[in-house]
Amino acid sequence: MNLRPRTDGPVYSLLVYQFPGLLHYSQSADEVRSAQSSEVAPQLWWRSLVEDFEEIPSSHLSSGIKFPPGTQTAASFTAICINVPQHLTYLLSSILTAGGKEFKARLPTDGGLTGALESAAALIKDANLPEAGLYVNATGLGAKELVPDDRMYPVKGQTVLVRGEAKGATTTDQNRYVIPRPGSGTTILGGTREVGIWYALPSSALFSSLTRLLPMGC
Ligand SMILES: Cc1cc2nc3c(=O)[nH]c(=O)nc-3n(C[C@H](O)[C@H](O)[C@H](O)COP(=O)(O)OP(=O)(O)OC[C@H]3O[C@@H](n4cnc5c(N)ncnc54)[C@H](O)[C@@H]3O)c2cc1C
Repeated sequence: MNLRPRTDGPVYSLLVYQFPGLLHYSQSADEVRSAQSSEVAPQLWWRSLVEDFEEIPSSHLSSGIKFPPGTQTAASFTAICINVPQHLTYLLSSILTAGGKEFKARLPTDGGLTGALESAAALIKDANLPEAGLYVNATGLGAKELVPDDRMYPVKGQTVLVRGEAKGATTTDQNRYVIPRPGSGTTILGGTREVGIWYALPSSALFSSLTRLLPMGC
């Protein structure tokens, strides 16, 4: 497998991996061009940020394992992938090493943001720590109740984690992707984008539809 850690910087070398990336569209290059601009796939704002971005000639797009039926436009590049559980563990341990303290508590939402901040301040006081000079509200969708912000709504996303690391990252314009989780021996198959769905349990129908992506990771 051509999976290699980045070496340009201490954090990169630990947590950021590079390997072959591939994307394919069911739209033709002409359709993409006329919809957007004179460049193929201009909506790929990140194309100038990755190394080795290259469009694949249509003569190479015969249907098969690599390119599913209907593929009309494709590109290869060097993908960057972060193993998120590993990354979050690294961030937390850096904070703790620098003297930070970790609290886990559900802040009440019935008193609004002010009530939540008062609760947070009480937690800090109970732990005999100095008063906080700054609070960061990073409650995600929880801000809907906490702030409150009625404009917020959920977008449910589901993925399947399977054993085995794919040889590269593959993305399609159908919101489907195969992304290896470097160093873990697993691969993420995704995904869904279900706007307004609060139901948090996974759907088994999704499992069979996503596992059909497995050949793309071979
Ligand atoms: C299936 C799926 C796959 C994804 N894949 C990717 C990916 O590959 N790459 C990527 O960049 N992004 C991905 N995302 C998106 C990414 O997960 C989110 O953008 C990110 O988690 C948002 O982080 P956040 O810290 O803002 O919010 P969250 O992760 O939602 O964290 C908010 C936290 O606040 C806590 N909280 C809320 N209310 C309260 C309260 N009253 N008191 C105390 N705590 C509270 C919650 O419990 C939660 O822990 C994915 C999302 C999904 C659903």
